[in-house]
Amino acid sequence: MNSIVAIVGRPNVGKSTFFNRLIQRREAIVDAVSGVTRDRHYGKSDWNGREFSLIDTGGYVKGSDDVFEAEIDKQVVLAIEEADAIIFMVNVEDGVTGMDEDVARLLRKVTKPVFLVVNKVDNGKREEDAVEFYNLGLGDYFTIASINGSGTGDLLDALVKALPEVEPRDEEEEILPRFAVVGRPNAGKSSFINALIGKDRYIVTDIAGTTRDSIDTKYNRFGFDFNLVDTAGIRKKSKVKEDLEFYSVMRSVRAIEHSDVCLIVVDANRGFDGQVQNIFWLAERNRKGIVILVNKWDLVEKDHKTTNEVEKYIRSQMEPFTDVPIVFISALTKQRIYKAIETAVEVYKNRSKKIKTSVLNDTMLPIIENYPPPAYKGKFVKIKYIMQLPTPQPQFAFFCNLPQYVRDPYKRFLENKLREIFDFNGVPVSVYMRKK
Ligand code: GDP
Repeated sequence: MNSIVAIVGRPNVGKSTFFNRLIQRREAIVDAVSGVTRDRHYGKSDWNGREFSLIDTGGYVKGSDDVFEAEIDKQVVLAIEEADAIIFMVNVEDGVTGMDEDVARLLRKVTKPVFLVVNKVDNGKREEDAVEFYNLGLGDYFTIASINGSGTGDLLDALVKALPEVEPRDEEEEILPRFAVVGRPNAGKSSFINALIGKDRYIVTDIAGTTRDSIDTKYNRFGFDFNLVDTAGIRKKSKVKEDLEFYSVMRSVRAIEHSDVCLIVVDANRGFDGQVQNIFWLAERNRKGIVILVNKWDLVEKDHKTTNEVEKYIRSQMEPFTDVPIVFISALTKQRIYKAIETAVEVYKNRSKKIKTSVLNDTMLPIIENYPPPAYKGKFVKIKYIMQLPTPQPQFAFFCNLPQYVRDPYKRFLENKLREIFDFNGVPVSVYMRKK
């Protein structure tokens, strides 16, 4: 499982420039595949072969110029709870400010690795000025210039060294689907889990998770074996009031990354709002299976059209990834909670599906022949064969003469055909063009 690194600091010190620099290279890849980017504040980066997730906490505060100090304090508290390491960014131009001191006070108590990073240090004079940040009482600091990247190498060397060791998944361990129940606060996640598992009567065994914060608990319910990914997000341990979208994202990151399938609980009365969408895209970008559970369905006044209308509305919010099952449930009356788990199991199977190369080619090549990629700059693209890659989630490589000339709409066409024929309901599918 990835470690999570949170960037904290007051507005305008350069957090997002730094964040963008770190995730840029990979971002380009992700965008090329999915064709969408939604979340500018969460991404993956790597250094010396070590991958980690990066969260720009500041990005989640709206109108961040006049953000209140209290708001930043809350972010820092949450970052301390949820992240494995914290980058505290300050700015040499402004020197040590009152807000910096407040943040430092919170961080001094932390046992997790904290990296004080002084930004905008792009000359020797500023290198000297940076000394004043010793006054924050956080020990040694790193000087960088986000704008051109200088100094980031040393910082990243130290950062990845400080991240907790990744424990490999036990070979002996039975491979069970890992389900994470996520959603915004008060959507009914805990109620759903309680409705599902009762008073822990169905727990088979506890397996210590790969980090101290996460525990997989094995359940056998309705004839299915699965692990519920129980993280800090499920156990409400924070005193922080969760009213910003940042909180639900921060809370969900670890659970989502650690899961195979995300059960996204939506409050029927609130709909598929911005916070839910953020969680949805987080799951999609991590290439996880997704089931949407529209909860509190008992409270909704319904006629024979309501289900269809709500479903249509939610799908419109998920564009272009709409091939996702939606189940209408009530954690209160236990309506369709069996269906919810059954659907999650199906999505898990779809995600683990392996299509034989011969079957792929026999079905897809005739379709491609009938509807070939449009000529681009006068060149014709010839797709020769197709292979599913040996990854945990479905990825398909289409080998052709001119991969760079195949545009996104055609890749989406191929993806949709794969979905139609092989059923990848609830699962992000990646389509790559490869040179042959
Ligand atoms: P969480 O923050 O997502 O874990 O949400 P909770 O499970 O704590 O639920 C928030 C509130 O919604 C509680 O008052 C629940 O009793 C209520 N609730 C949860 N699920 C349902 C449901 O299906 N129907 C109704 N009527 N209320 C529900």
